[in-house]
Amino acid sequence: MSGTTILKPDLGFVNEVIRSGGESLKKCYQCATCSVVCNVTPEDKPFPRKEMLQAQWGLKDQLMKNPDIWLCHQCSDCTAYCPRGAKPGEVLGAIRKMSIKEFSAPGFLAKMVGQPVFLLVLFAVPVLLLLAEGAGHVPAGKVAFGLPGGFLFSMKWIDPLFTAAALFALASLGLGVRKYWKAMAADLPADRAANINLGAAIKETVSEILAHKRFQKCETTKGRSTAHLLVFYSFIGLFITTCLAFVKMILDPGTGYLAYLHHPVQVSDSFLTGLFAVYKIIGNASAVALVAGILLMMSNRFKNAKKAGMGSYFDWLFLTIIAVLGITGLLAELLRISNMPAAYPVYVIHLCFVFFLFAYAPFSKMAHMFYRATAMVFARATGRG
Ligand code: SF4
Ligand code: SF4
Repeated sequence: MSGTTILKPDLGFVNEVIRSGGESLKKCYQCATCSVVCNVTPEDKPFPRKEMLQAQWGLKDQLMKNPDIWLCHQCSDCTAYCPRGAKPGEVLGAIRKMSIKEFSAPGFLAKMVGQPVFLLVLFAVPVLLLLAEGAGHVPAGKVAFGLPGGFLFSMKWIDPLFTAAALFALASLGLGVRKYWKAMAADLPADRAANINLGAAIKETVSEILAHKRFQKCETTKGRSTAHLLVFYSFIGLFITTCLAFVKMILDPGTGYLAYLHHPVQVSDSFLTGLFAVYKIIGNASAVALVAGILLMMSNRFKNAKKAGMGSYFDWLFLTIIAVLGITGLLAELLRISNMPAAYPVYVIHLCFVFFLFAYAPFSKMAHMFYRATAMVFARATGRG
């Protein structure tokens, strides 16, 4: 019959949403209070009521290509006001987790990252790689990491190893985001698809993300914006630190690759010490901001647990990885400055968490920044921003 839509419910999907943190899904009776109280949703076809219905009916295909699941910023106003305790904010969180799993490749890694039973196996990978690199060996003498004879200097494969992990993550994320974009664009009417202004949409989205404008609209979890901003900018600071450290590592005639290659390029000492000071300051300030931001996020979760829910294993894995990464990074530096050999094992733990965060980024909650940014660009470019 013309004009008839045939729905294909996927009951396995409904059960997976429930298992992934959306156990309250079936309590929803479609009153739409959630869509009314949400300050982030567009007025046209607002979320999350319709997503609750789609999830209850097992309409996986519709949900997976829906930009709205990522336009939600998990501020939990809807959860706080839902008269049935259906926790739509948590249900959308579970659907986002499944969206990451749907689009990321290889799929088995997404499955493993999402289940606590595989946690030890995932950690065993960096532990074994680092031990094979000699991370169990503690050098004698003054505690040093990067200097000749220092801890990292003998680990010849550490840079290629982490570079390969980062490239793998970037490739996987790129493929996942491309698949998500294609899925969203598949149903776009031809006239709207032809009028997409990607440049303007990207520019507006970047400015919105830098200012965290949407987070500031949240009411129930007000502190989220500050905590998220701290973590967001600390990641940018740590990225800048890594780039500067890499430049110094190449240029330093005493310890860098130029020395290794006996390259004749001369680099002034003042430039290198200046660079050293700059990246140390940015790195330490970013690490402190990272730890402060993530602890604030954790404390907000506890504070708002009654109104907003505690979050799922997926959320807590991400928070815990970042917290331990930040704390061990700062602790390793303090122990090294104090010349205490405990700096070595603490640093190895730090490296394991760094590996975990980046190598598994396409499958963990870390991927949210890429999928959400993609959905925001898509929404703006297609007039739903
Ligand atoms: S999730 Fe709650 S507020 Fe939203 S439509 Fe369902 S019952 Fe109403
Ligand atoms: S969690 Fe916040 S942003 Fe997401 S649907 Fe609910 S009220 Fe809207």
